[in-house]
Amino acid sequence: MTVRFPAKFRDVDAGSIFMSNEAGDFFFTNEQFLDAYAAGTTTEADDQFLQNQGFQSQSSNDLYFYSYLSRLVKRQTYRTELSYIILVPTLRCDLSCSYCQVSRVAENAIGFDWSEETTEHVINFLDGLETKSIKIEFQGGEPTIRMDLLSRISSFCRQKFDEAQFVVCTNLQRLDEEVLTYYDNEDVTISTSLDGDINTHTKNRTVDHEITDRFFANLDFVLKRFGPNKVSALPTIELSEDFDPTALYEAYASYGFKSIYFRPVNYQGFARKKHSDSIDNFALWRKVYFNFLDLLISEAADNPNPIDEYYFTLCLKRFFQAGHDSHVDLRNPNPFGRDYLLVDYDGQIYPTDEARMLARVGQVDLSMGKIGSNFDTEKLNQLNYLNMNNIHEECIHCAYQYACGTDLVDDLSRYGRVDIPKVDTWFCRKQLAIFDRIAGDLASDNRNVLSVYERWMGLPDQTLSEGIIRYDPTNH
Ligand code: SF4
Repeated sequence: MTVRFPAKFRDVDAGSIFMSNEAGDFFFTNEQFLDAYAAGTTTEADDQFLQNQGFQSQSSNDLYFYSYLSRLVKRQTYRTELSYIILVPTLRCDLSCSYCQVSRVAENAIGFDWSEETTEHVINFLDGLETKSIKIEFQGGEPTIRMDLLSRISSFCRQKFDEAQFVVCTNLQRLDEEVLTYYDNEDVTISTSLDGDINTHTKNRTVDHEITDRFFANLDFVLKRFGPNKVSALPTIELSEDFDPTALYEAYASYGFKSIYFRPVNYQGFARKKHSDSIDNFALWRKVYFNFLDLLISEAADNPNPIDEYYFTLCLKRFFQAGHDSHVDLRNPNPFGRDYLLVDYDGQIYPTDEARMLARVGQVDLSMGKIGSNFDTEKLNQLNYLNMNNIHEECIHCAYQYACGTDLVDDLSRYGRVDIPKVDTWFCRKQLAIFDRIAGDLASDNRNVLSVYERWMGLPDQTLSEGIIRYDPTNH
C-alpha cells in the first residue's frame, strides 16, 4: 500500500508552489499539481515522481521508506557530547557599551570574578567530560582582565584533551605582554566587536575617541601580527531608517574579513533599557537587512570568494543540507545542556549565553544549577520538550520546518512566555522572511543571485541553477 510522507506547501512566487517534507526533500510545482495531490487524483506519472523525490513509498518496508527515515533521522539528530563551553571568569569590563547584553559591571567592582572555589569546580567539571576535543569561549565582562584564569584553564585543557581550542571575546582595549603571549598560542583565536566605520563604532561603544582610537589601532595590530584567520569580528547593528549598508560593508572589506554577521541589537541585558524599540521592529529589520543582503550580492559579482552574511548563509545551508547544527539560536531539536553550556562569573550554569542575560535582568531564571552540584534536570526536560519545532502547531504545517529551528530564549526575552503562536514571534517572522527570499530566488531561477549563493555555500558552479527540481504534471 502506498505510504505518503507528511508534505507541506507554500506559495512562494506567483503560483510557484514550494513543496517539502520533514526530511528536507523539496521541489517546485504549480497549483494544478497541488490540487490533484490534495484530492488524491494524482496520475501514475505523478506518483512515480513523488516516490523518486522522497515523498512516498510503495510500502512501509521498501527502500524508499527506509531512505526517507534515514534522511529524517539525520535532520533530527543532535550532538550529545558536551564539547563547547562558554566561561565567564569575570563580569567586570573597562567599557560600558550602550547595547551590552550581558550587563557588565565596572572594572573595579568587587565580587564579580570566579572565586578560587568556583575555579576549582570548573576545572573538576572539565576533568569529568568525556569528549576528546573541547572548545572554550572566554566571555565577560572583559575576560582579559583575568588573564591568570584564562591561562590556568587553557593549560589544564591542553593536558586533558586531545584537541583544545580557545576563543577570547574581547573589546581589544588590552594588548599588554601577557595578553599577546597568550594570543601567540596557535590554539587561541580572537573575537571582537566592529560595528562599522569609526563614527558608528564610537557612537555605540563610547563617546571617548581615545578609546575608539585605541581599539582601531589594536585591531590593526592584531590583524598584522596574526592575520584575519585568527581574528574575527562581529557587528552589533542599531537599526534605523538611515542605516548605511555601504559603511558596514567597507569597514569589514577593508580589514579583509570574509563574513559579516548582521546582528541587530539584542533585546537582552542593558539593551532592554537603552534600546527598548528593539523588542519589535520587524518591518525596519526586514528593510535594512535585505538592503544589506542586496548590497553583498551586487558586490559579489565576479568575486570567487565574496563576503557573505553569516546568518543568511547558515539558513541557505540548512535549506539544502542536514548537519548544520552548531548555531544554538537556529537548530532543531535544540536541547539545552547537551553539547553546549555556560558557566557564569558566580558559578551558575546556563544553557546559553542569552539565557544568563534573562536571569541577570530578573526576567526568568534559566540557570541549570551551580558548578559543583547536580543539574536541575526537571527544569531542563521541561524546557527541552518545548525547544523543538516538531511540536509547535504552526511549525508542523510549515514548509520550512525541516530547515528552521527554535529560539526559546528569544521568545522568553521578548514576550515573557514560550507558548504564544510561533507565527507571532520575531524569530518566526525573521525565519519566514529569509526562507521566502531563498525559495523565491530559487523559484524565479535568478542565475546571478544563485551563483552568489553557490559561492557563499562553497558549492560548485551551477549546482543550484541546474539542481533544482521543478514539476509540471502537464509535461508528464
Ligand atoms: S518558526 Fe515559523 S518559519 Fe520556523 S518552522 Fe515554525 S512556522 Fe516555520
